[in-house]
Amino acid sequence: MIEKTDKIWMDGKLVAWDDAKVHVLTHSLHYGLAIFEGIRCYNCKKGPAIFRLNEHVKRFFDSAHIFNMEIPHSREEITEAILKTVKANRMKECYIRPLAYIGYGVMGVSSAGSSINVSIAVWPWGAYLGEDGLKNGIRAKTSSFIRGHVNSNMSMAKVSGYYVNSQLAKQEAVALGYDEAILLDTEGYVSEATGANIFIVRGGVIKTTPLTSILEGITRNTIMELAKESGYEVREERFTRDEVYIADEAFLTGTAAEVTPVKELDGRTVGQGKPGPVTKKLQDAFFQAVKGKSRKHERWLSYL
Ligand SMILES: *Cc1c(COP(=O)(O)O)cnc(C)c1O
Repeated sequence: MIEKTDKIWMDGKLVAWDDAKVHVLTHSLHYGLAIFEGIRCYNCKKGPAIFRLNEHVKRFFDSAHIFNMEIPHSREEITEAILKTVKANRMKECYIRPLAYIGYGVMGVSSAGSSINVSIAVWPWGAYLGEDGLKNGIRAKTSSFIRGHVNSNMSMAKVSGYYVNSQLAKQEAVALGYDEAILLDTEGYVSEATGANIFIVRGGVIKTTPLTSILEGITRNTIMELAKESGYEVREERFTRDEVYIADEAFLTGTAAEVTPVKELDGRTVGQGKPGPVTKKLQDAFFQAVKGKSRKHERWLSYL
């Protein structure tokens, strides 16, 4: 169960957690269009700091733009509201969930004339795929469900409705005893996990899915930068599931998943079946950066 905090920001006001309610005829609840973000605040040496806040707020507005949703607040207001919500809940480390949804008022597919409402909730959230997964790697399964066509899903947007597809994949993987699903794209190439991007390492070269069927992850971007700084060649190039089977290493990236090693795909051990040296190095660099232990990456932190 989710661990309650004190306050949730709703349309400009902080309200008590238990009062953060919507009407059952809220448009988004019926037709699936709501855009959201997942952001993390880490307790750094110099105090709590939100990781890559500006990039997350930008993507929030970009997602809304793709769907012609007009958020009734400026980027600065949303940035301030996020900082304010974390502070109001006296959180040192938390997950932050801004959501823009089509409110109560009209029904039918067209939402013209409806209000766009915004909420920001925060709560404590540890390792998304478990502490053991983060440390020792997870077991994944290629899903029988695929990611939507690029003209069906506008994958640059982070949208609630896309998670229907993710839930089908996750349910299947979990029912079969796996930790996570890897979805392929409409052409059969590896796309991403249910809410995280994927990387493989083969012969010292790092590969990740190009920006086609995937969400442009901010953690993906962070890892690409950290890898380049460490002198690795990073290619945004599509690859097949069997290339994952024979890769030296594989890992997932996401704000929730952070950097989670993949030790097995479809019953095949990936590499040594434990986090490899490149994964460990990048995971370490990632945690140094998010926890404010790397001066070079201070620019990614917004202290409360
Ligand atoms: C949010 C999300 C990710 C990860 O993105 P981050 O910015 O790294 O958190 C990857 N794929 C999907 C489908 C997502 O919704």
